[in-house]
Order: sequence, then C-alpha cells, then structure tokens
Amino acid sequence: MGSQMPAGISLASAAKCPVHHNTPLISTVVVGLVLAFVLGALVQRVRVSPLVGYLLAGVVMGPFTPGFVADQNIANELAEIGIILLMFGVGLHFSLKDLWSVRAIAVPGAVVQISAATVMGWALGWALGWSTGKGIMFGLALSTASTVVLLRAMQERRLIDTERGRIAVGWLIVEDVAMVLTLVLLPALAGLMNDDAASNFDFSALAWPIAMTLGKVAAFVVFMLVVGRRVIPWILHYVAHTGSRELFRLAVFAISLGVAFGAAILFDVSFALGAFFAGMILSESELSQRAANETLPLRDAFAVLFFVSVGMLFDPAIIVKEPLPLLATLFIILFGKSLAAFAIVRLFGHPISTALTISASLAQIGEFSFILVTLGVSLSLMTDRGRDLVLAGAIISIMLNPLWFALLDRFLAKREAAKSTAETIGAEPAVADEGTATREPLPVSPLTGHVVLVGHGRVGSVVSAALRQAGTPVLVIEDNPGIIERLREQGIEIISGNAAAPDMLQAANVGAARGLLVAIPDAFEGGQIVAKARGISATLPIIARAHSEEEIAHLKHHGATSVIMGEQEIAKAMLAQIAGSVAAALQPKPTEGSQPSAA
Ligand code: AMP
Repeated sequence: MGSQMPAGISLASAAKCPVHHNTPLISTVVVGLVLAFVLGALVQRVRVSPLVGYLLAGVVMGPFTPGFVADQNIANELAEIGIILLMFGVGLHFSLKDLWSVRAIAVPGAVVQISAATVMGWALGWALGWSTGKGIMFGLALSTASTVVLLRAMQERRLIDTERGRIAVGWLIVEDVAMVLTLVLLPALAGLMNDDAASNFDFSALAWPIAMTLGKVAAFVVFMLVVGRRVIPWILHYVAHTGSRELFRLAVFAISLGVAFGAAILFDVSFALGAFFAGMILSESELSQRAANETLPLRDAFAVLFFVSVGMLFDPAIIVKEPLPLLATLFIILFGKSLAAFAIVRLFGHPISTALTISASLAQIGEFSFILVTLGVSLSLMTDRGRDLVLAGAIISIMLNPLWFALLDRFLAKREAAKSTAETIGAEPAVADEGTATREPLPVSPLTGHVVLVGHGRVGSVVSAALRQAGTPVLVIEDNPGIIERLREQGIEIISGNAAAPDMLQAANVGAARGLLVAIPDAFEGGQIVAKARGISATLPIIARAHSEEEIAHLKHHGATSVIMGEQEIAKAMLAQIAGSVAAALQPKPTEGSQPSAA
C-alpha cells in the first residue's frame, strides 16, 4: 500500500524528454486525465473495466512508447494524493470497532499471505539463480496488494460495508503496517540479506530500528486517539456551523491531506495510514457522510492518475524478452497469493463466497511493490531484471483483476442458481448474490399487477409496509446488502442491486406492474431509472422522489408521472401540526369588554 513514493522510479527520463518542459505538472495532469478519459470510455464500450483504459493511458504517456512522455515523479506524487484521499474515504466508513472486530482473521491472514508470497518469490528467485536475499526481496515485493485497486473493486461492488469488505480492508491495514515496518527495517537488514556481508552482521543493531518504528506507529495512534479524536471533529463542527460549504469542503481536504502529511513527517508512518486514521476518527462524527461526499470527485480524479502513473512504468518489451519468468511471477500474484488467502479465510469458517472475494481482491500488487523494488535496487538487494518483472507483474495483475472478479461473479451466480434449483422454491423472483446482480441475465419476475419499489430506506420501508398491509404485492429493488438480507429473511420479494443497472427493471417485470415508486434520494440516478422504465412502458404510473425544484423538473423530463419533494411534504406536515395552535393563538382572547352581555 501507499507510502511516500520515492523519486527513484525515474525510468521516464531514460528514453525521451518530456515535451513540455515548462509546465510538467499541468501537462501530466491534463494529458493524463484526457487520455484516461478517452481510453477509459473506449474500453468501457467493449465492456472492459475503465481501469484498463487508465493503465493504457499511462503506457501511452510512458517512456517506452513513442510520443509524449509525462514526468514520472510528478505522476507518482499525484498518485500519492489519490491514495491519501482514498484511504481517508475508507477511514470515514470504518470505526475502530469494525477494525477490532476483524483482527482475528486480518492479522493472521495478512501475515500468512505475506509469508507465502515471500517464500514463493524466493523459490522463483532461486530458480532464476538469485541469492537468498534477492529472492526474499523479490517475494516481499509480490506480497502486498494495492489499496487503490482493492478499494476500487470493493466500491464498484458496494462491498465496503459488508463483512467481506471489512475483512479485506482490515487485512489491507495490517499489510500496510507490515510494509511500513519492512521499509524501515530494510536498510538495517540489507547487510544481513546481502550474502557477502552476512558474516559480520550485528543482530543487535536491528533491535533499535524495530523498537523505534513500532514506537512511532504506537505514538501516532495514541496521538490521534487522544488529540485527533477531540480536535478534528471539533474543527469540522465549527466549520459546519459557519454555514460556508466552501469552507467545509476545504476543511475536509485540509484535514485529510494535512494529517497524512503530518503523520509521515512527524511519525514516519505512511501517508495512507495517516489518512486512514484521520478518516476513522471522523467516522464517529455525524458529519462523516457529508465529509465523504465532499471528497468524492477529487478522490476519483486522483485515483485515475494513480493508474496512469502505474501504466507509465510498464515496458511492453518484457513480454517478449522474459515470457517464462513473467508467467511464473504472474502465477504467484494471481494464484499463489489467492490460494493462501482462500485457505486462511476458509480456515476461519467463512463461506466460500467470502473467501473467493477476498482472494480476488488481493490477487494483484501495486504501489508498495514499486516502492520496495526501488529501495531494493538502491540497496543492491534487487536486480534490474527483478524490478522489471515486479513492475510488469503489477500492471498485468491490475489489468487482469476485473477479469478475476468477472470469473468469480460467474462462479457465484452458477452456485446461486444451482442452490435455488436444488431448493426448488418454484417461481421465485430474481434473487442474485450481492456481487453478481449486475452481471448475469436475471430471470423475469412472474408477478403482475404489483408495485415495484426502488429503495427500501426511510421512505421505501414505510411505503412497503403500508402496501403489504393493504394486500398489494410489492417487489423491492434495493442495493444495500444489510437491508437485502433483512428483507429476504422477512420473505419480501426482492431483486438485489442498482435499479439503474441493465435488465433490473425488466427482471422486476415493470411492464406488467401497477406502478413504479422510485424512493431513492439521488434524483440523478432516479432519472435514469425513470427513463428506463418509461422506455419499457408508456403508460406505467411512475412516482419519484426529489429534494429540489430542479430535481422535480429533471425527473418529470425523464418521464415521471408525478414527483414528490420531501421538503415540501415536511413543510406541509409541520403546518398541519402547528395549525391547531396557530389557530388558537390567532383567536381573539376573550376580554371583559367583549363578554356577551346576555349574562
Ligand atoms: P432512504 O434515503 O433512507 O429512503 O434510503 C434509500 C434507500 O435506497 C437505501 O436503502 C439505498 O440502499 C437504496 N438505493 C439507493 N440507490 C439505489 C439504487 N440505484 N438502486 C437500488 N437501491 C438504491
């Protein structure tokens, strides 16, 4: 995972000069984003993950292909900002309790997986004729998964808040700490690992760096828990009360980047770990959701630049020059590590789907490997050949990662299908695994004359309860795994996944439904759902949810029959409730003069 990306990976300077000498930052950002957008959109058209497009953009901008060459050091630093924002976002979703709850599996899991990868790397190194030290270094470089790639995969599948998501993130945090330790200890260990110096190595010299590093990590954690926990939420609450959105946004960025940077400078921990803690401390505050939303756009832009910077390291010639060692390297990353992870997760009694998801998410390597190989080369613990193999292994494994998940989806969908056939529940509506809903063709629900309800949150759950009580058949489309599980337990008809994804509305049989209720808060996504439903049926009554006049117009434009704006309904209800007392207050108070004289 991320740490300070050293300036050492300056392969860019070798072959060609950057075209724009005067504005390297601007040209790297602009060319990177534009190329990533064009290639990402192109590959998306042929149903490949846009991530592959971003990597290809990096290859195009890299020193090994003709044309424009971006500045690798700048690209690396931009990528580092992406890692900080990403980890901050993960921290926002994560509480200390979550982290603590997965320690039993995350700690042994990460340790066993790192050891397994290191041993396999060492074995390959031995076959290639490298010394033990160089082999171990090579194995270590293959052992840690990329934060960005893992989180991307989890977020795309909305798995972050599930148990598998929590295990994977906890695992990642342990790997991060292990790698921080490795980076600090390597210079001290280099003497031992370089065979020639092994004889006069002083073991006691190791104790001090280990103690220092652990001490610094502990000091940082204590500092954050004692000082950060009080100060950071206080700052955000204060800024929120000023009412300035701009200042709030700025505060969020200042805190995430500032803490990460401060942690690296003062405590020598990685940027990623610092940012994660800053986010986690905020996760207890009720402002965390707002903070997460504010960082989204920038976070995505910088994550794209991360992939571009990785692509720039790739020299396609290695595929021709070293096909067999490259295949062996890939085998370790894709299968060796996965197998170790799978075994551990199963050993802890988790289901196969959890074990497979975690294996797939960890079957790649990324930023930490680049840092390790750079350090390895500078300490004479790694050959150029080893470095090139690791870099090629990283980019190819990142490219193949979406494919891994696609295979996994297929496998899980098949199992799910086999399971429901075995259970022979008869004409069940489409029910898919949380990770597969958008991938497999969904069977169409046999329900007719039903109400299709998108979203079963604060709004949808009230609607659904009332409709069911009135005897109206309801089919819910929902994408929150926790809610899905609850609804299934209650025996409510449900299709899991994003209602805006292809085939979802067809599967809900909206064509034969009595009506469609779009009860989700995001009107943009709501608009897509409404438009798709309108495409299926011109006469279907569609009622959607909005929060502003613009959203009402947007939803109506896409074909909604009527749109309910939450805020207006709240206002009406408030008026209705106050009406009685207002009326009473407005009534003229009986005074003596106005007393009826009849008495
Ligand atoms: P609330 O705002 O509390 O009414 O919750 C909205 C619910 O809609 C949440 O449970 C979300 O998981 C769900 N939701 C949001 N967007 C979608 C979508 N595109 N497809 C399916 N469910 C969604």
